[in-house]
Amino acid sequence: MSLDEFGLIERIRRRTAARADIVLGIGDDAALLQPQADQQLVVTTDTLNVGVHFPAETPPADIGWKALAVNLSDLAAMGAQPAWCSLSLSLPDADPDWVDQFAQGFFQLADLHGIALIGGDTTRGPLSISITAMGQIAAGQALRRDAAQPGDDIWVSGVPGEAGLALALWQQRALDVSRKAGDAALEHLRQRLARPTPRVELGRALWGLATAAVDVSDGLLADLGHICARSGVAADVLEHALPASSAAAQAGLSEAFNTLRGSAGDDYELCFTAPPGQRQALHETMASVAVPLTRIGYIRAGTGVQVINQEGVVQGASKQGYNHFSGAGD
Ligand code: ADP
Ligand code: MG
Repeated sequence: MSLDEFGLIERIRRRTAARADIVLGIGDDAALLQPQADQQLVVTTDTLNVGVHFPAETPPADIGWKALAVNLSDLAAMGAQPAWCSLSLSLPDADPDWVDQFAQGFFQLADLHGIALIGGDTTRGPLSISITAMGQIAAGQALRRDAAQPGDDIWVSGVPGEAGLALALWQQRALDVSRKAGDAALEHLRQRLARPTPRVELGRALWGLATAAVDVSDGLLADLGHICARSGVAADVLEHALPASSAAAQAGLSEAFNTLRGSAGDDYELCFTAPPGQRQALHETMASVAVPLTRIGYIRAGTGVQVINQEGVVQGASKQGYNHFSGAGD
C-alpha cells in the first residue's frame, strides 16, 4: 500500500497537539505563531541521516523520538521552554506503516514537553529527518556558551558515554539496536542510544544558577571545549570525578566505558558551569528534577580542556569528540 504526500501529511497532522498560541498550524503555506510578548524566541535545527546518525535497522518509533530529542536537547541547553517545531521528512518510499510508527515515537516525546508540530515538508529521497524546534525564554535568561568564568565548577548531568558504548557494541555486533536486549544492563545502554532524554526541566532549573551550558552531542570534552572557546577560558577535568556507569559495570564493560566517556557523543546530557556558591542550590535542583548532577572539574584562566588523572598527571586534550568533517570518529 502506498499513499501520496498528502495522505502521509494527514497521518502526521491528526496526531498533533493543539496550543492556544498557534494562530494557524499545518495546512496553509506557512504557520502563524503568537509568541509571548516578554519572551525571546529560541530556534534550533538538527538533521538525522540514515547510516550517519542512526543505524538503518533502528525502529521507526526510535528514529521519531530521537529526531525530536536532539532538537529538544539544544533548547534545553539554552534553558528554553519548548513550544513549536516543524518536520522535514525525506522518505525513500511512501510507507504509511513507517510514518505511523515514526509519528508514535515523535509525538510520545512531543507530548511530554507540550511541543506542537506546526508544519514541515515531505519529499522523496534517502531517509533523512530535519527538525526545527522553537522555544521561548524570558529576555536575558538564556544559558549561553560564552559566559563561563575562571573559578566556576564544571558539572554534567547523567552518565555521558553510555550511548557511545551502546553504539560501539552495535558496531561490534554485540547489541541489536532493533530490539529489546534480554539483559537489563544492555537494555539500559540501548535505551540511552535509542531514546535519549532531553534535559529540558534541568535546563530551565539552571536559570540564575549556571553561567554557561552546552548539550553533550559530540562528546563531553569536545562540547566542554566549545564553552571554553566561546568564553575565553580553560577547563581542568578530573578523571576520577567523571560519572561511572553502573550498567557498564554490570555488563562487565567498565573498561570500554571508561575509554569512551570523555569522547563519545549522542548522550544529550547537559554540561554547564556554575560558581562554587551555587553548589547547595544545585544539589536541591538535582533532587527536584531527579537527574544526577556530577561536579567534574574547574574553569580557570587559559585555553583548552585538559584531563587530570588521580596521580595529578595531565592527559592532554587528545580525546576529541566526533567531528563530521575531520575524518575522525566513526
Ligand atoms: P507547500 O507546497 O506550500 O510547501 P506542502 O504541500 O509542502 O505545501 O505542505 C502542505 C502543508 O503540510 C503545509 O502546512 C506544511 O507545513 C505541512 N507539512 C508538509 N509536510 C509536513 C510534515 N512532514 N510534517 C508536518 N507538516 C507538514
Ligand atoms: Mg512544502
